[in-house]
Amino acid sequence: MSAATDPDLVVDGLLRFAKSEVEPIEAAVHDRAEDPAARYLPDGRLHPELVAADRAVRRAAAKAGYYAMCCPADIGGGGLGRLVFFKAWDALYRRYGPREALAYGSIAHWATGPSALWRQARGYLAESILPSVMSAEVLGCFGLSEPDAGSDAWGIRTRATRDGARWTIDGSKQWQTNGPTADYALILAVTDPGLAAARKGGVTCFYVPTATPGFRMESVIRLFGQAGGHEAILGLTGVEVGEDHVLGDVGGGFKIAMYSVNQGRIYNTARCVGMSQWALERAVAYARDRRTFGQPIAEHQAVQLLLADCATEIYAARAAGLRLATENDDDAVEINRKDAAMAKYFATNVAWRVFDRAMQVHGGMGLANEVGLYEGMHLARILRIADGTDEILRVTIAKELTRGDLAL
Ligand SMILES: Cc1cc2nc3c(=O)[nH]c(=O)nc-3n(C[C@H](O)[C@H](O)[C@H](O)COP(=O)(O)OP(=O)(O)OC[C@H]3O[C@@H](n4cnc5c(N)ncnc54)[C@H](O)[C@@H]3O)c2cc1C
Repeated sequence: MSAATDPDLVVDGLLRFAKSEVEPIEAAVHDRAEDPAARYLPDGRLHPELVAADRAVRRAAAKAGYYAMCCPADIGGGGLGRLVFFKAWDALYRRYGPREALAYGSIAHWATGPSALWRQARGYLAESILPSVMSAEVLGCFGLSEPDAGSDAWGIRTRATRDGARWTIDGSKQWQTNGPTADYALILAVTDPGLAAARKGGVTCFYVPTATPGFRMESVIRLFGQAGGHEAILGLTGVEVGEDHVLGDVGGGFKIAMYSVNQGRIYNTARCVGMSQWALERAVAYARDRRTFGQPIAEHQAVQLLLADCATEIYAARAAGLRLATENDDDAVEINRKDAAMAKYFATNVAWRVFDRAMQVHGGMGLANEVGLYEGMHLARILRIADGTDEILRVTIAKELTRGDLAL
C-alpha cells in the first residue's frame, strides 16, 4: 500500500478482510469466547484456544498487509500514518462494538505490537527482533506503570544497573495489557536515579523476553467481576539482558513512554467514537421497534432527546478525532499533547454518556447481557482511567494553554 492510498478505501479493504478472514476464525471459538466460565483458565489467563485464535488473526492480517499498515515504511510498515489509523479503529468499533472481537487484532496496537516507537530499534533489536514483531510472530506488553506509579510515571522504582555489557533489572510492574500471555515486555526502568528524581531523564526502555530467568507474571488483574483478564502484575528479580536489548538511547525511555501515551490517545478517541455509534445505531433501531402507550418509543420526545444528545456528541467527538489525526498524520511528528488530551478526554466521556443513554432507551433490556451495552459501559469506564485519567488530561490541557498553546 502506498502513502497516497485513499484512507476510506483502505478501511473498506480492512472491513472486508475482517468479514472474510477473521469472522470464520471467531466463529470457531465462539462458544468458548461467549461463556464466562470457559473463557479463562483458573489463574485468570485467557484460555490458550482464544490466545491462539487472536494470534492467528494477527498473523493473517500481517500477511494481508493490514497489521502494520500504519507503521512507518522505514521499519517495514505500510507508512499509512495516523489518519488511516484513526479511521480504521473507528470503523472496526462501529461494526463490532465494545465486545472483545478478534477483528481488533487486525491492526497492531503500540503496546503489544509494532508502531513508530520501533524506529528506535538498532542492531540486534532491529535485525533479529523487529521482523518477528512486524509479522506478529511475537506479541508484547508495555511496562511503564507500577503499583506506586500510575499518573505520576516519573515515580517508577524499577531499577536497571549496568555491569559491563549486561544490565540487571529489578522491580515490579502493574497493569500491563497483554502481560498474562506476552512473549516480551518493554520495561521502563530507572538507570540514573538522580536524573529521574529531577524528572529530566534517567529512564531507559528494555526489550525483555518474558522467558528470561527472574521475569514472572505474578497475577492477572480481574475487572468488573470477570473471571480473568488481560492486565497483569509482573515481577522482575535479577533479570539480566545484554546492552543490545536497550530500545532507543540509555536515558531516553521517557520519550518512548510519551510517544506511546499520545499514540494511545488517538486510538482511544477512535474506538470511543466507533463504539458510541454502534450503541446509537442499536438505540435508534430499538426506539423504532419498541412500542409503549400505543406508539413506538421513538415518538416520545423524552426518548428523542436522548438519541439527539448521543448523535450530537458523537459528531463532535469524531470531528475532534479526525482533526487530531489529520493534523498529526505524519508519524515522524510528535503528536500535539494538548489536542490529543482534549480529544481523548472528550471522546471517552462521550462514550460513557452514550452507553448510559443507550441503556436508558432500551429500558430493562439495556441491562441484559445479550444486548452487550454493559460491555460498552465497562470499556468507557476503563478508558476514563487508562492512558491518562480525566483529571490528568485536564491538567495537561491547562498546562499547555498556560505555556502558550492557545490554538484551538
Ligand atoms: C485496563 C487498563 C489497562 C492499562 N494498560 C497499561 C499498560 O499496558 N501499560 C502500562 O504501563 N500501564 C497501563 N495501565 C495503567 C494506567 O496507565 C494507569 O492506571 C493510569 O495512568 C492511572 O494511574 P493509577 O491507576 O495509578 O491512578 P493514580 O495515578 O493513583 O490516580 C488516582 C486518582 O488520582 C487522580 N490524580 C492523580 N494525580 C493527579 C494530579 N496531579 N492532579 C489531579 N488528579 C490526580 C487521578 O486522576 C485518579 O483519579 C492500564 C490501566 C488500566 C485500567
